[in-house]
Amino acid sequence: MSWWSLSGHRALVTGANTGIGQAIAISLAQAGAEVICAGRSTSAETVQKIRDAGGTAREIHLDLADPMAARDVFSGAGIDILVNNAGIIRRADSLDYTEADWDAVMDINTKALFFTAQAFAREILAQEGGRGGKIINIASLLAFQGGIRVPAYTASKHAVAGLTKLLANEWASRGINVNAIAPGYIATNNTQALREDPERTRQILERIPAARWGRPEDIGATAAFLASEGAAYIHGAVISVDGGWMAR
Ligand code: NAP
Repeated sequence: MSWWSLSGHRALVTGANTGIGQAIAISLAQAGAEVICAGRSTSAETVQKIRDAGGTAREIHLDLADPMAARDVFSGAGIDILVNNAGIIRRADSLDYTEADWDAVMDINTKALFFTAQAFAREILAQEGGRGGKIINIASLLAFQGGIRVPAYTASKHAVAGLTKLLANEWASRGINVNAIAPGYIATNNTQALREDPERTRQILERIPAARWGRPEDIGATAAFLASEGAAYIHGAVISVDGGWMAR
């Protein structure tokens, strides 16, 4: 079996209906994993794409507006790879930012991510002599940088980076790898407002050494690597996949 094969593994990806989550689900399936596509919207399209390519997938409903929504999802389900991808962004000047926007972003991007990881790890660690598991959190460049007009998003993604390290410290010796991917500017719904603004688009592309927006598949491939045996000694890393943005 190759180091990169995910054959025999079962993954759950949150927010798998579109964008980066859909690409991650497809990449994990291409590597051989059975994929459970979890979200508040139907992931029927993702499941179909995976099946059309000969893979195995199904969907479950999971609305992480309730940060505890995943508490019973892992029980006896044989899931050994978790990708915490679901996330939202709300833009407004900090002077005008509302508590409702703050809470909505923090609940999904940070609180739900933590408690979903907790539910997953409780299940993995309850298995005596089990084979461990992998958690891959989706952070952002705003885990390192400040951004502008997205205060809750920046706070939430800095928290994702911190939690990734904390959970790695607690669980690395117990067979769970916890890592994060910090995507650069990827062409999805999340960045639609930026891509529709010619001035922001020009500024962004000028700074990206690779001179293009990222594709969701760029993140999918990295997630498949982190989920594999080849990444067994990677713990607590926050890996930028950003066309070189952070190198500037
Ligand atoms: P997207 O297309 O807006 O996808 C966000 C995903 O999160 C969707 O599947 C969405 O489901 C799901 N989601 C939102 N609220 C949810 C809830 N209450 N319960 C369950 N799922 C929920 O954006 P994306 O770019 O693919 O974002 C995926 C992740 O990458 C996010 O964590 C985002 O912060 C991060 N990221 C993106 C970029 C980028 O440039 N695109 C850069 C850095 C980080 P619905 O379709 O039902 O809303």
